Amino acid sequence: MAMYVFKDSARKVKLLAKDAFKEDKGVRFYCPNPTCDAHMHICSRSGSSTFYFSAQIKGHGHIENCPHYASNNFDPIKYNETEFDFNKALLALTEKSKPQTKKLDPGEHEQGPVVPKPPRTIRQIYDMCIAYDCTDTYNGIVIGTMLLYDGSAYMYSNADDVIGWRVIEAKRDKPNFYDSVKKEIYLVAPIGRQKYKFLLRFDDEAQYKAMQKEIYANKDNKIIVAGEWNFSEKQNKLSTTVLSKKQTKIIK
Ligand SMILES: [Zn+2]
Repeated sequence: MAMYVFKDSARKVKLLAKDAFKEDKGVRFYCPNPTCDAHMHICSRSGSSTFYFSAQIKGHGHIENCPHYASNNFDPIKYNETEFDFNKALLALTEKSKPQTKKLDPGEHEQGPVVPKPPRTIRQIYDMCIAYDCTDTYNGIVIGTMLLYDGSAYMYSNADDVIGWRVIEAKRDKPNFYDSVKKEIYLVAPIGRQKYKFLLRFDDEAQYKAMQKEIYANKDNKIIVAGEWNFSEKQNKLSTTVLSKKQTKIIK
């Protein structure tokens, strides 16, 4: 699903889901991806005032690999927006995984309806950002300030603007995306414009090796990384230390 669409095939007139209540449910809207001809329609659930857009007509779905098809995973109803704290969520991703403790069967002790949690995994946060227009907000936070990708690239005039907690949508740098001696991984983002260079450091060798292998096996895929970025003028790179595998994800 998507939290925004365009009213016209030229993708000039944007419509956000939160402004869509007046619109006719029978009207066909356009997928934010200009190369995708999916027929988008307003949807809502009974008992909910939250609207979203979805391509539900057979034969008029998204093209393969359309990012708005991938964002099907994000369902606003399933998450608690008012409790979402972006910096806190990213900080939690850098925490080392705790040893598994035995979980209680959720059906056994829950009383009443399940209270939704805010998006917390890197995939949930990324899917949430992709579902909304980059100028839109989630719990008051501008989407484009959380995710650096081609859509939000214009909001970052130089590398200093990227400093801080952010999720980046990146690709491997070429020709070399790693240095086995330094245990570093090199990425570029956003994918289309490749404006900034990124350096990932690791404090754990096994984690470096695992990520290097995973990128090697998925050379053409997107890599999303959550971290607190610093900028080194000398290296002309934004860098962060990957402390947990929860901070990175290959998007297939
Ligand atoms: Zn699409």
